[in-house]
Amino acid sequence: QPPPDCPPDVEQLGRSSWTLLHSIAATYPEKPNPTQQQDARQFISSFSRLYPCHWCATDFQKWMKSAEHAPRVSSRSEFGQWLCEAHNEVNAKLGKDLFDCTRWEERWCTGWKDGRCD
Ligand code: FAD
Repeated sequence: QPPPDCPPDVEQLGRSSWTLLHSIAATYPEKPNPTQQQDARQFISSFSRLYPCHWCATDFQKWMKSAEHAPRVSSRSEFGQWLCEAHNEVNAKLGKDLFDCTRWEERWCTGWKDGRCD
């Protein structure tokens, strides 16, 4: 962990960024209108080009380019699942455990079912 007043390293930047991304999905509408879907697509597209870790951004863009990994923004659940898959892609690349995407909403929206976040 770098001292709090220093520029973030790749890990700190990553943790903060995933927190923002998953939290956006957690509050994304269950039934987004066309403007909201466009906003989500544009945000992800800009994010993937501006992300301040160059090789991370390049790999993220490459992953999103294939049709099967195109952002899914038609509902909160779809968007949350898609972000979870994107995050798992990075987890796999870094040799980390994969996250169970059926539980993304417990982690980022409702709190775990065992009540530990209550
Ligand atoms: P993080 O991976 O930051 O995760 C934070 C928390 O999210 C975890 O504690 C867990 O509770 C939860 N979580 C974990 N997986 C998931 C999931 N699949 N879905 C939902 N929640 C989950 N780092 C590199 O070294 N090289 C890279 O190429 C790279 N690319 C990145 C690309 C992007 C778009 C982003 C946002 C980050 C990237 N990072 C990269 C950073 C990396 O993903 C981690 O954030 C960093 O290594 C710190 O990891 P961590 O173990 O603290 O937890």
